[in-house]
Parts: sequence; structure tokens; C-alpha cells
Amino acid sequence: MVNVDKKSSQKYDVIVVGGGFSGLYMLHKLRKEGLSAVVFEGGDNVGGTWFWNRYPGARCDVPSMQYSYQFDEQLQQDWEWPERYSSQPDILKYINHVADRFDLRRDIQLQTWVESATYNEEEKQWHVKTSKGEAFARFCVMATGCLSSTNTPDVPGIKEYAGQVFHTGNWPKSEVDFTGKTVGILGTGSSAIQSIPLIAEQAEHLYVFQRTPNFSVPAANGPTNRQEASKIKARYSEFRKECANKFTGYDMHLNEKSAAEVSSNERVEEYEKRWANGGLMFLGAFSDLLINEDANETAAEFIRQKISSIVENPKVASLLMPDHKVGCKRLCADSGYYSTFNRDNVTLIDISKNPISSFQSMGLTTSNGEWTFDNLVLATGFDAMTGAISKIHVTGKQGNSLREKWIKNPKAYLGLGISGFPNLFTINGPGSPSVLTNMLPSIEQHVNWITDCINWTKLKGFDSIEATLEAEETWAEHVNEVAGQTIFPTCNSWYLGANIPGKKRTFLPYLGFPPYVEKCESVARNNYTGFEFS
Ligand code: NAP
Repeated sequence: MVNVDKKSSQKYDVIVVGGGFSGLYMLHKLRKEGLSAVVFEGGDNVGGTWFWNRYPGARCDVPSMQYSYQFDEQLQQDWEWPERYSSQPDILKYINHVADRFDLRRDIQLQTWVESATYNEEEKQWHVKTSKGEAFARFCVMATGCLSSTNTPDVPGIKEYAGQVFHTGNWPKSEVDFTGKTVGILGTGSSAIQSIPLIAEQAEHLYVFQRTPNFSVPAANGPTNRQEASKIKARYSEFRKECANKFTGYDMHLNEKSAAEVSSNERVEEYEKRWANGGLMFLGAFSDLLINEDANETAAEFIRQKISSIVENPKVASLLMPDHKVGCKRLCADSGYYSTFNRDNVTLIDISKNPISSFQSMGLTTSNGEWTFDNLVLATGFDAMTGAISKIHVTGKQGNSLREKWIKNPKAYLGLGISGFPNLFTINGPGSPSVLTNMLPSIEQHVNWITDCINWTKLKGFDSIEATLEAEETWAEHVNEVAGQTIFPTCNSWYLGANIPGKKRTFLPYLGFPPYVEKCESVARNNYTGFEFS
């Protein structure tokens, strides 16, 4: 581990903010290139998202054999994933293994929150102030995660609530025991859908406050199929290349047929097959589910029928049925979510028409009732893709604040570089495919690209590299144009920043991993078009 006092005002080639999947690989890669680097991480261990999201049932819904690093062949051969979809503790174990295996910890400073990053135009370097000191570097890389800045709703009186409050995205390390407790949970997104079945098993009573129902499909998790895993391992690098050619960067088993071209029997058969196999591959059932509203409605109706067949109380079933398009809010994968509403100790409260008016010390009031509970779980999501960076006072050229810039319009050229902020890179920043893909290959692609770019800049003798405003704006327009051809902008989602009051509504992630990679490669091949140097 980095000795805080000794290194607190040292100068590096690169400062990396964040010690999750991105920060760890960034450090490894920089070191391999002979560059000096330090990682500042706020948590008391590595892991990022997987360090903080320890809520009951936290699990990844991308298959384990794909949700893992590919940069080291021996690592991917050696590692054995116990389950088809990995649990948070297993992923954290893997991240810790990687940190030890590649001897990364000696350049990681834990429990160190980055407070500000200021660009010195004369010296062409970043001055980073942390909770423990300061450091300088020519380059700064924000590896702060897309879903790491928690969103706590600003409901009147929420601070008056006297029971214990837990946010799924910042769950305590010590065990939380809800036995004998009444619990209120706010939110019904992926985190809630994973945790509700487990909290319901423990709590005396669980009140679920739902503003918008979500579509969820069974995860069908289970032990890793060793035969299948061996087959993948026998040709892991080829398998990875095949996945990189898929739209989402992972294998969704996309059916080439459109939903319209098959009979209704064939359609239902396909949905049934995918429902039984489990997971997000449900969205790959037909080629046009995400681009054609009628096609999408066939999938939506199929899931609604499933809800109706699982949930015994028709009124509750009806409340659980979303009326938006499948996938425009991220599809969830669950283990027994809908059937949990058949339990006597679970009550669903619709707050769409009767919103929460205030919290009190013992619970909350809606326009049609009062609810008391011992503990409150906030499963209210994140200020996605820009929130974690905006929390840091980042100041670029001419004293301009990144927070102020992003309030007006959160954008970055290729999700990698920001106009007015030279030598600053974002891993999976706004405008990158990131959250619409398998995060791991997306992270590795960004880290490789950033490292090449830093090397190239140094090789050419430039002191700084900066995205041009024109390139940034053109890219942001393109991101929205592509999304506009799909069902994604048709509902209020965090993809659009719509979950954060006051956040500008713009589509944040880029749709399509292969064309994005091709674009990044072409930019690099052509001497980093869209960037300027000094
Ligand atoms: P989320 O999807 O943003 O869900 C937040 C929930 O809180 C929504 O139901 C939202 O309702 C509700 N909410 C927010 N503010 C509210 C307010 N003021 N009043 C009432 N309700 C409010 O957050 P999340 O569940 O943490 O998931 C975020 C993302 O993390 C996922 O989409 C996914 O990408 C990732 N994730 C992945 C996994 C996995 O791999 N399995 C697991 C967990 C999370 P509205 O919909 O009405 O806004």
C-alpha cells in the first residue's frame, strides 16, 4: 500500500481516481508502459462499485465467464467462477485477487477521497488535492465508475426519519439483520428487484414503495456449467473476439429474425425459451425489439402475462405491470421477485398517483396513507455517468469548472476527453457505450486506448492533448441521433439523466460497441482527429 505521508505530494506521470475494475487495469497498463502512476481510492479496499454495493442479493447479470478481465490469458484460465452470474462477494474476491496477483496495492492509496483536480495551464499538469494530501501529474484519469454516485431523493422530512437508513449503493460492511423488523424500501429498479426477495425472507414486514414498475426476467442463476466453461477456456481469446463483435460487447444470442416476420406461436415459443434460460438474453429474442415499438410491445405483453400468472392478487399484479417499452429502462434480472408479492409479509404501495408527501420520525406519509417502519432502504439509484466526477471540483483551462459545464450539457468526446480540460481522460464517460455493454471489455478498450494516446502524445513531444469543442459537440449529437432511432429515449431513465432533478435530459451512453471501437481506432490511426495538441 502507498505510504500516505511519504507520497502525499509526489509527482507522477498519471493520477488515477478510483480503484475499481477501471482503476486497477489502468494502473497495471501504465506500469507496463513504464509510466509512474498512483490510484486514489475513497474506500478502505479496492473494488469500486463492487465494494460499495453489498446489499442483499447483489449480483451481476452479465455471465461470469464474460464479466471478467481478458488482458491476461493465464488469469482467465486460472480463475474459476462458482456461479453462472457472480455474486457481489465473488466479484470482490476476484478484484482483490487481481490487485494481489499483479502487485497493484503498492501504488494504491486507500481511504483517500479526491476533493479537487485543477489544471495548471503554464505547467501543463494536474494538481490533485485529496483528503490526505496533494499530488501532481501531467495526466489525470477519472476511473470513477458510471454508477457510483448514489442518488438520495430530496423528499421533505427525510432527514427527520429516526430509523436506520441504508442505501443499496453504499451498504454497510457489517451484516445488516432485518429479523423482526418492519422495513420500507423506496425504488423498484435492478437493486431493489434483487434485494426485495431476500429482505422479505428476513423482515417481519416489508413495504415496497413503487413509483414506476420495471420489467424483470428470471436470472436462472446456478452453479457454473463446468463443461461449458472448459469449452470457453479452450478458445477464450477467440470467444472474446466474437463477443467484441456483438452489439453489446457480450453474447446475447441475438436472433436475426424480426418479431413481425414470425407467427405469434413462434414468437411466444422464442420468448418462453428465453424466459426459461434466463437473463438479459431475453432482449435478443428478435432483432427489432429495441428499434420497433410494435415488436417491443409483443415482448412487453409476454412479460405482463408472466406477471399476471405469477402474482396471485390481480390488483397487485396489475400494479407491477410496466406500461413503458421493455429495455428503455434497463431490463432487470431477478430471483423470485414477482412471487415475493404473494407473501403475507409484503405490501406493495403505489406512489405514482399518491406520491410521498413527507417523512416523519417513524415512517412516511403519502397522499392516501401513513406507513411506519423500523428501517428504510433507499434503492433509489445513482447520478449515473457524470455524478462521481461532478462531485470533485475539477477545474480546467481559464478556471472553468467541469461541474458547471456538465450542468448545461454533460458530454465528452467519445466519452474519453473533454474540451477545456486538457490531459484529462474519463473511463466510460458520457458518450461511451459502457453501461449498455459488458462493462469489462468496455473498460479494457478505454484503458488501452488512453494508454496508447498518452504514449503517442509523449512520443510526439506534446505537453498536452485536448478534445476540440467541435468534436465533442458532433459526437454528442451523434450519440443522441443513434439513440433516437431506438426505443431508448421513450421513457424516463437514468440513461437520459431523467432520474436526477435538474439534470439535463440527454442520452448519455453510446449504442453499439463494434462501431464505437472502430471509431476510436480510426481516431487514433489518424493522429487523434478531434483532439488538439500543444
Ligand atoms: P435505478 O434503476 O435508477 O432505480 C431507482 C429506483 O428508485 C426507481 O424505481 C426509481 O423510480 C426510484 N426512485 C428514485 N427516486 C425516487 C423518488 N424520489 N421517489 C420515488 N422513487 C424514486 O437504480 P438501481 O436499481 O440502483 O439500478 C441502477 C443501475 O445499476 C441498473 O439499471 C443497472 O445498470 C445497475 N445494476 C445492475 C445490477 C445487475 O447487474 N444485476 C444490479 C443492480 C444495479 P422511477 O423509475 O420512477 O424513477
